[in-house]
Amino acid sequence: MAWHAQAVMTLQQLERLVPALHSRGYQVIGPAVRDGAIVYDVVESLSDLPVGWTDEQEAGRYRLRHRNNSDKALFGYVVGPQSWKKYLHPAEVCLLTAERSGRTFRILNNEPTPPRRAFLGVRACELAAIAVQDRVLQGDRYRDPVYAARREGIFIVAVNCTQAAPTCFCTSMGTGPRVRGGYDLALTELVGPGKHEFVIEAGSDAGAEVLAELAPAPASSVASEAVRQEAEAAVERAASQIQRRMDTTGIRDLLYANFDHPRWDNVAQRCLNCANCTMVCPTCFCTTVDDVTDVTGTHAERWRKWDSCFSQNFSYIHGGSVRTSAKSRYRQWMTHKLASWIDQFGSSGCVGCGRCITWCPVGIDITEEVRAIRESPASSNSNSKESSHGNP
Ligand code: SF4
Ligand code: SF4
Repeated sequence: MAWHAQAVMTLQQLERLVPALHSRGYQVIGPAVRDGAIVYDVVESLSDLPVGWTDEQEAGRYRLRHRNNSDKALFGYVVGPQSWKKYLHPAEVCLLTAERSGRTFRILNNEPTPPRRAFLGVRACELAAIAVQDRVLQGDRYRDPVYAARREGIFIVAVNCTQAAPTCFCTSMGTGPRVRGGYDLALTELVGPGKHEFVIEAGSDAGAEVLAELAPAPASSVASEAVRQEAEAAVERAASQIQRRMDTTGIRDLLYANFDHPRWDNVAQRCLNCANCTMVCPTCFCTTVDDVTDVTGTHAERWRKWDSCFSQNFSYIHGGSVRTSAKSRYRQWMTHKLASWIDQFGSSGCVGCGRCITWCPVGIDITEEVRAIRESPASSNSNSKESSHGNP
């Protein structure tokens, strides 16, 4: 089957997807409702998905509710607090365990081999975020073996967005709402009165093989031109719902030239330094390492844990923190995301998913912060990018 061939399927036909992935040895991870949010977890069938649920999001606000039309949409929500870095770059990893034996010690084990995983329900902005973390964590001279082992062989079932949240701005970042590559299968869900079907296309040989199993009579399931247009229109509708914008024109130079802008003081008065924005961000990757021993001193473990540029200890160097103020920490985060990330990795560190806006307890909005600086740039004080890396 040609990769670009699109098939159309009913919900009943799509139900064979999870068993088809299981039979190939994948553990399937997908969206599920837990504790009032849509998160990612192991799913055993499509009925584990957030059937008929949607999310409401605003700056500093997230709620789940049943969809208005009481349909049974599987993917009728946007993005939740978690991203796929939960599995690829987890919050805590035991790097090694060691046990003392006389005057020496033995390394007992390293991280167990992760299961082969299939990700079900990956949005376009999330594919972009995975590509960013690929670049950061395995595209450089020092490849992260933990990430690489988890990333290898992932089967990705992407989903085109057919609705957007007020916090989304993927259209500004060029990452969505349509998926453009990096998937094995891509779905577009079509729901309406008396209708529930999926337009599916393969993006790899592995995806084409699964698709052939789901649609054993390809001729009868090839999506008609009308169905394809309907799917396109659904994605266009999501794009047209996106009102939030970030003007990225010259953003790197804009931020480097506004290191002393008064807006940093303004945002520092609102920011709680809680680090939520970095925890929910699908591209933030910073970690710290803790060594712990038991009370007898015979057993030790080395844990890698997510860290955040919003914590004071993050910039602790030989006796003190480099960034002691809330102002310097917020400025570091935003300037890294949108400016120095481009120098380091050749792309923006932001994919426009909007999570940092939704999950900021005081509703700080990265797009508003950029706009404020752009609309009244500082006259021109420090324009050195080095200065953004170490200043209280
Ligand atoms: S900075 Fe905010 S909007 Fe951008 S990728 Fe991170 S969480 Fe999403
Ligand atoms: S910007 Fe918001 S989420 Fe981020 S540290 Fe400040 S208060 Fe917390």
